[in-house]
Amino acid sequence: MFFLRLYFLCVALLIATFTLASDPENPLQTPEKSGHKTPTEQNITFNAIHTDGPCIAMTFDDGPSATLTPKLLDLLAARHIKVTFFVIGENVAEHPEVVARAAREGHEIGNHSWSHPNVAKMSQESVRSQLQRTDDAIKNATGKRPTLMRPPYGSITEREKHWIHDEFGYRIILWDVDPYDWKRPGPAVVRNRILKETRPGSIVLSHDIHPGTIEAMPSTLDALEAKGLKFVTVSELIEMATPQASHPSPQPGGSTSTKATPSPSIAPSPASSPSG
Ligand SMILES: [Zn+2]
Repeated sequence: MFFLRLYFLCVALLIATFTLASDPENPLQTPEKSGHKTPTEQNITFNAIHTDGPCIAMTFDDGPSATLTPKLLDLLAARHIKVTFFVIGENVAEHPEVVARAAREGHEIGNHSWSHPNVAKMSQESVRSQLQRTDDAIKNATGKRPTLMRPPYGSITEREKHWIHDEFGYRIILWDVDPYDWKRPGPAVVRNRILKETRPGSIVLSHDIHPGTIEAMPSTLDALEAKGLKFVTVSELIEMATPQASHPSPQPGGSTSTKATPSPSIAPSPASSPSG
């Protein structure tokens, strides 16, 4: 009987430990328990989010476009869908009213640099200027500074991730679903690629500067919704992160479960992969 009690006591302690380590209100508070990833790395960079809910984040890069972005905003409004735009500073300065509208309608605005260079190959001073000018342009257009940054082409060094996070407070947002819409493969291909790869917690990359992408969106969004997926902004998705420590047992599908993973330290060069 004594041993039975001892056993239950141990189990109770174990459960208490897991509960403390996986407070869903503070998904990022337990870096020291995050296994092989360094604490800062896990908190700073996201390709996808580990979450129990059915939520995903659609992201649109390289705009705003004076003609295509408003079209996209119309069809998002009609569906009550919120997305995240990673805007280029030059374009924000040219069309601040489009960014202002996006922010007003509940979408999130992230920094995608001033002129879309490969920041992994630039001096700290030049990168700082690219980000600061864009941060200012977004603040001027929307009244709010961004909290997210996506490096053009997904190309960024480990060192840059850390100083950018320290100086600007940005989280670095990459993606786990890439339809290669910049190659303009046609709306049907863009849609099929997104539908095939998107799962709960996904961050979907696309570009609101290509007509085919905008054309693909009505049926893509409707099909994702029909699968039971819900659309949130990237920051909202990060808030929904469930620590992987709270899932000690393997999940069905195993390797397909999403997670907040750091990207390769330096992504391929623009010439070989212009995604992002
Ligand atoms: Zn881009």
